Amino acid sequence: MEMLTIGAFARASRLSPKALRLYDELELLRPARVDPGTGYRYYAVQQLERARLVAWLRRLGMPLAGIREVCALPPAEAAREIRAYWARVEADTAVRRDLAAFLTDHLSTESRKDTTMLELRYCAHTDTGHVRTANQDTVYAGRRLLAVADGCGPAGGPASGAAVEALKFLEGEDLAAGGVLNLLEDAVQGASRAVRDLAAGDEETGTTLTALLWTGSRLALVHIGDSRAYLLRDGELFRITHDHSVVQSLIDEGRLTPEETASHPQRALLAKALTGGTPAAPDLRLHDARPGDRYLLCSDGLSGVVPDDEIRRLLTADPDPDRAVHALIDAANAAGGPDNVSCVVAEVVEAAAASLV
Ligand code: MN
Repeated sequence: MEMLTIGAFARASRLSPKALRLYDELELLRPARVDPGTGYRYYAVQQLERARLVAWLRRLGMPLAGIREVCALPPAEAAREIRAYWARVEADTAVRRDLAAFLTDHLSTESRKDTTMLELRYCAHTDTGHVRTANQDTVYAGRRLLAVADGCGPAGGPASGAAVEALKFLEGEDLAAGGVLNLLEDAVQGASRAVRDLAAGDEETGTTLTALLWTGSRLALVHIGDSRAYLLRDGELFRITHDHSVVQSLIDEGRLTPEETASHPQRALLAKALTGGTPAAPDLRLHDARPGDRYLLCSDGLSGVVPDDEIRRLLTADPDPDRAVHALIDAANAAGGPDNVSCVVAEVVEAAAASLV
């Protein structure tokens, strides 16, 4: 075996001797031989590849435990682990990116005076579906607040009800003073506490929560679980929430294709929800409203069986929120109605136009 001194190995691997000593201490890259008399480290030429991989993974920001794991794997599996690691980084970053966008939006439009008065026309409805015996979904729509919650577990119905109930104080809050983010955070903590109290230690009981708070010119979104929010703008449908489900995490990490999810046995498992267990952080976002925007909140009883194209068609077809909600629920039931189905549709309208309705 050809041996290199630490200096020669450092030059060949473009790492400093200091870095090599650190990797040795961290057990990421042990020298092939340490002279018992002098303590000098010697490396085998074959170790160069690993040294470079360690250096690149460090540059990627991978934690040491992850690097150790990747280095021990054959190349194809190592590639999979790196992809999965990066998907997690991007998911974490996306949450922080949204928070940053929320804050910049909030601060930069704080003093903006809107000349057009906008308001919402809305409708909410929920249906048990054709298969379940009980409805564990809860929906709500008011002047300020729109919400969908999909309960699961033994006390799923009361859990979704308690979560939505805990948000209703927002209807009466003065939002002009700003502080929307704090208000929402308080509201979600209240909802989380309400579910935890109700579940009384039962970790099976929980609920999703997807809600929009109307501020007069914007909609603040709070989201946890796999219920969804969509925006229909200029005839295009955008999904504005990310499913906190186990299969979505597997897709994000490149371990599963979207096509494989329909038959996946764990497709109903949530990665995050309000439960009796450890509290999890919801996604928060702020959306500028434009006249003509239509928002849809729904439980997976709709999105699980009605494709996005059909949702877009039904949402576009009838300008009346009440009829749109019922058309969407009918579509879910026509597709078998395997789950409770809930929809809230809200349209942003100019205040003058709304008062004529
Ligand atoms: Mn459901």
